[in-house]
Amino acid sequence: MTVISPSESAQERRLAELAANLAAVRARIRAACAAAGRAAAEIRLIAVTKTFPATDVMLLNRLGIEDFGENRDQEAAPKAAACAAAGVRPRWHFVGQLQANKAGSVVSYADVVHSVDRARLVAALGRRAALTGREISCLVQVSLDDAETPDPGRGGAPPGQVLGLAAAIHAEPALSLAGVMAVAPLGEPARPAYARLRQIAESVRTEFPSAVAISAGMSDDLDEAIAEGATHVRIGTALLGGRRAFVR
Ligand SMILES: *Cc1c(COP(=O)(O)O)cnc(C)c1O
Repeated sequence: MTVISPSESAQERRLAELAANLAAVRARIRAACAAAGRAAAEIRLIAVTKTFPATDVMLLNRLGIEDFGENRDQEAAPKAAACAAAGVRPRWHFVGQLQANKAGSVVSYADVVHSVDRARLVAALGRRAALTGREISCLVQVSLDDAETPDPGRGGAPPGQVLGLAAAIHAEPALSLAGVMAVAPLGEPARPAYARLRQIAESVRTEFPSAVAISAGMSDDLDEAIAEGATHVRIGTALLGGRRAFVR
């Protein structure tokens, strides 16, 4: 007779739940790619595990997910350490607003920073990555909100600053320029906003041909993002379930 401890069976139930969610997300990605005439292999799925425990990262990793996103260093650093201690070393993507004084911590575990939106942060990441001896992939986060009234809480550089930031990243020896990232604007349909992002991405790629990444699309709008050329989708809720209200 096999004895299953309660916590073991809870983990098995969670694994089954995550597997079902993952299958549904992958089906959405396949359908969106088919509609856009793209290959599903062009899309990298990043599981955004903020507010969820390291055990969920390990379960999703068992299910084949190799890319994980986090938006707060205070939460991400211990989570990445807990996974590493258990022998799980996925690719970590930092996707949240980042203070320059956290750059040293973030470059110690993150492989990719999606939220680079100002020159001071480029300099801090470049310096700290060089000190750590790691090469960090960076995306310029573009604000798709009304340029007249950018919301500082959401992050992102105005479109007019994107090429300058891309050049600054490119000039840092320890950073590599991967492309652009955006969050859909509030109070506007996602598709036309992602179409603007695609144009900005093309202008960046014209100057920096290897900067091909477009990180766009979350649980509610991954389909629209894929229709407009997204290469990386950042999925939280649809994979992991609802997050409790966030208290800072
Ligand atoms: C939380 C978060 C996501 C995932 O959002 P869902 O709607 O839960 O899929 C993606 N990108 C960023 C920057 C986030 O902070």
